Amino acid sequence: MAQAELLPEVTKFVDAPKMVIGGKSVDATSGEMFDVINPATGQVLTQVPRGGALDVDAAVNAAREAHQDRRWAGLRPGKRTEVLYKIGELIKRNISELAQLESLDSGKPVSIASGEMWAAGDVFRYYAGWPTKVFGETNPTDDNMFVYSLREPVGVCGGIIPWNFPLIMAAWKVGPALACGNTVVLKPAEQTPLTAIRLGELCLEAGVPEGVVNVVSGFGHEAGQALAQHGDVDKIAFTGSTEVGRKILHASEGNLKRVTLELGGKSPNIVFSDANMKRAIKGSMNGVFLNSGQVCTAGTRILVERSVHDDFVTSLLDSTAAMKLGDPLKEDTQMGPVVSQEQLERVTGYIEIGRSEGAEVAVGGARATELGDGYFVQPTVFTGVRNDMRIAQEEIFGPVAAVIEVADVDEAIAVANDTIYGLAAAVWTSDVTKAHKVARGIKAGTVWVNTAGNVEPSVSFGGYKQSGFGRELGKHSIDTYTQTKSVWVNLR
Ligand code: NAP
Ligand code: MG
Repeated sequence: MAQAELLPEVTKFVDAPKMVIGGKSVDATSGEMFDVINPATGQVLTQVPRGGALDVDAAVNAAREAHQDRRWAGLRPGKRTEVLYKIGELIKRNISELAQLESLDSGKPVSIASGEMWAAGDVFRYYAGWPTKVFGETNPTDDNMFVYSLREPVGVCGGIIPWNFPLIMAAWKVGPALACGNTVVLKPAEQTPLTAIRLGELCLEAGVPEGVVNVVSGFGHEAGQALAQHGDVDKIAFTGSTEVGRKILHASEGNLKRVTLELGGKSPNIVFSDANMKRAIKGSMNGVFLNSGQVCTAGTRILVERSVHDDFVTSLLDSTAAMKLGDPLKEDTQMGPVVSQEQLERVTGYIEIGRSEGAEVAVGGARATELGDGYFVQPTVFTGVRNDMRIAQEEIFGPVAAVIEVADVDEAIAVANDTIYGLAAAVWTSDVTKAHKVARGIKAGTVWVNTAGNVEPSVSFGGYKQSGFGRELGKHSIDTYTQTKSVWVNLR
């Protein structure tokens, strides 16, 4: 498939991306590189350094040194605000370049990538407000003592991130870490290292001192593992699969580093008979097909109340069949490919599993081969799904919806909660009582009512159950990037 024109700065960056360690652009110590694939063509886009344990060591040492000499934490809070805001502004200024890079690297439509780049900048602008607002307190004790607390940075923070929202995920890790005075080592996903590397460069340009933000590209079992088990890393913030989340937890036990985990989901999207159907269809579609379904909060289980089930499904199928797949670099493309060959096989494998479990493919159900060698999968809707089927229980991470019929509110809540996950849920109803009842009944970190997929830097985000623990964004994220020290002063 022919692709749209690239910007000159994108061509230049793609030519030789390097890791950012100690303020320098560097290759891996081993000199090794690995291929980055363009998912829309299946072709090699570029190569990046294959960072390993030695490179992680170098990055952690740089981050430790920067933490120790307080070149970042010791700055006036107002100065840190200025720098964080500047990172957000630089992202905004380079939005076309970053959006093309993200689109090439991940396969997401460039129009959507632009919005994401803006959102990543917004995360930095939000955290720019925090350095002046993180402080301790004085604690009441008897007259002979004066007790106060200091809110201190945790130290060297590792960020390990997935490929589905590469720059946004990087911003979620780097923004709060910097706002609280920490230093960072970031390990992007092997599929999508480019915008994270570019962010490392932009941080330097914005005035973040050398060694404060380091970016190591590499594989999970090499660079990722080395970072997660490193004895001089104080915290790991991880986003990715529940399976790897478990490994991170094990790897962290050596020095008992702090860990926050944002893991998978199998989120319910519940449509009641009294919903505004037009909005419910549009929201449900976005909920499950945005980013080719590669969204941790994707509303992949569409629970529909029996009385409207057939009408809802008819409209859902019509809208799904009308979606425009194609070249992600074209502005009118609604859905691009999935991210990799591995993901393509995983998603089509699940479609076969669904068939063999007895669910019906009502639309889609195959690779979109007419689009060439790219990893395109037709948006797919299964009907006649039971919640105990694997396609309703396991995270597929592709454009595959499972429609499940439910009788009423109680059954909807029961089915919604019958999962190991608890990341998010959406509810469509015009009955305010029902909406709040369901919101309270669902065990998930986020519940959307008559909307789906919204995320804002000021709103905390995270999982119940095996979707992880710890909260990102909002004021709760500040707790996970600081530690409190109580100081007792004897006045006698
Ligand atoms: P993943 O393996 O969980 O990857 C997430 C990050 O962890 C990547 O940077 C990865 O590096 C790294 N990693 C892998 N193994 C590691 C280890 N042993 N120690 C430290 N870091 C490690 O996700 P994936 O393989 O890309 O996708 C697999 C499935 O995970 C998807 O199909 C989806 O179900 C789920 N997923 C969930 C989310 C989410 O936001 N909740 C995001 C992405 C994927 P590499 O890139 O080198 O593997
Ligand atoms: Mg992996």
